[in-house]
Amino acid sequence: MALIVQKYGGTSVGSLERIQAVADRVIRTRRTGHDVVVVVSAMSGETDRLLDLARGLSGRPIERELDVLLSTGEQVTIALLSIALQEKGQDAVSFTGAQVRILTDSAFNKARILDIDGAQVRKALTEGKVVVVAGFQGIDGEGNITTLGRGGSDTTAVAMAAALKADECSIYTDVDGVYTADPRIVPEASRLDRISYEEMLEMASLGSKVLQIRSVEFAGKYHVPLRVLSSFKDGPGTLITDEDEAMEQALIAGIAHNRDEAKLTIVGVPDRPGIAHSILGPIADANIEVDMIVQNVGADKTTDLTFTVHRNDYDKAHDILQRTAKEMGAKGVNGDKRIVKLSIIGVGMRSHAGIASRMFKALANEGINIQMISTSEIKISVVVDEKYLELGVRALHSAFGLDKGTGKNG
Ligand code: ASP
Ligand code: MG
Repeated sequence: MALIVQKYGGTSVGSLERIQAVADRVIRTRRTGHDVVVVVSAMSGETDRLLDLARGLSGRPIERELDVLLSTGEQVTIALLSIALQEKGQDAVSFTGAQVRILTDSAFNKARILDIDGAQVRKALTEGKVVVVAGFQGIDGEGNITTLGRGGSDTTAVAMAAALKADECSIYTDVDGVYTADPRIVPEASRLDRISYEEMLEMASLGSKVLQIRSVEFAGKYHVPLRVLSSFKDGPGTLITDEDEAMEQALIAGIAHNRDEAKLTIVGVPDRPGIAHSILGPIADANIEVDMIVQNVGADKTTDLTFTVHRNDYDKAHDILQRTAKEMGAKGVNGDKRIVKLSIIGVGMRSHAGIASRMFKALANEGINIQMISTSEIKISVVVDEKYLELGVRALHSAFGLDKGTGKNG
C-alpha cells in the first residue's frame, strides 16, 4: 500500500461537476489500496476575483490582509471536495494550511515553507480517511495566514509529499504531460515519459508553464517523484525524477522557447576595468533581472555590451542605460523587443560532443541569424528575431530527432 499525494489545479476543480469527477478519481485511487492526500487549488478564476475585490479598495492592499483574503479560495474547494467524497461514500476530512501547520516564513504573498507537522494528516489517514489539504497557504510563527505565491499549490503538494514521505506526488492539470516542445508550435512534439528535475527546471523557467518552478526545486531537493498528468483524460503523464542512464543517453530532452525577453545594447563604451559593473550595477539596483550578457571588444578599443531583460522591464532598463551611456561617454543605446530565446535542454549534453554545432547548423540551414548565445551544463540558448520562433523551434526539434516516430520518443 502506497501513499499518494494528488494535486488538482483550478481548472480541475472549476465547477461542481469537475469536483465530482475529482472525487471519483480520488476514490478510484483509494480503491486500489492506496492512502490518498489531496491538495487542491481555488476554483479557476477565484484567486483573480478575490484580488480584484481587494484592488477595488486599494491600489496597494496590505499584504497580510491580502493573504487572509486569497487563502479563502482554497478553503472553499477543500470543503466542497470533502463533501463530494463523503456523498460518494468515501470518508474524508479537509484541513486548511494552518490546521496542518504548514509553517512558513512571514513573507506575505510569497512565503516559503519552513516545516510541516503532518501528525494530524497521518492520524486521519490511519482512520481510513482521504485527507484534503488547502494548497497555496500556510501559517507563520506568529499565527498569521500566509500564501506561497501564484501557482503555489504545486509547492504545497510537493512539500506535503516530502513531509509524509509519500511514494509519489501526482499533479493533475489540463495538459497530459511535459512535451518535447510546445505542441501548438510543433505538431510532431511528443509527451516525455520521464524527465529529470534539472531538465524540468530549465523547461519551466523557459516558459513551459506546467509547474510552479519552486515545486520542482523542492521535489529535486527531497527526491519526491513527481508526475504531471491530465485530470480530463487517462494516461501515464510525465514522471519527473532523479537523472537516470536513459536520460543521459538521449541527446536532448526538449526544445523550449521564451518570448518574454527584450535585448538592450550599449554601444562604443571605452574598454577599461569596471565597465560591466558600471553598466549593469544600476540595472541590478533597479531590481531588474538580467538574463543573457554578451560583451566584445572591437578594433577601436571600445566595447559593446548586450544583455537581455524581461520585456516588462525593457522601458525602465532603456532609460537607465541611456543615463549610463551619457555618463560614460558611450556612443549610444540600441534596443530590440522583437526577439525570442530558443533553447535546447538535456542532461545528455554533459556526455555528448557537437551538440552546439548541430544546433547552429540547423538554424543556419533555415537562414536564421543568431544574435546571442549562452550555454550552461545542460542547456544552450540562442536569441533570434521573433519572426523565426516557429521555424526555429521546428528546425531544432527535428534536428535532434525529437519528431514523433523518428527519435527516442517515437
Ligand atoms: N489559487 C492560487 C493561484 O491561482 C494557487 C494555485 O492555483 O496554485 O495562483
Ligand atoms: Mg496552477
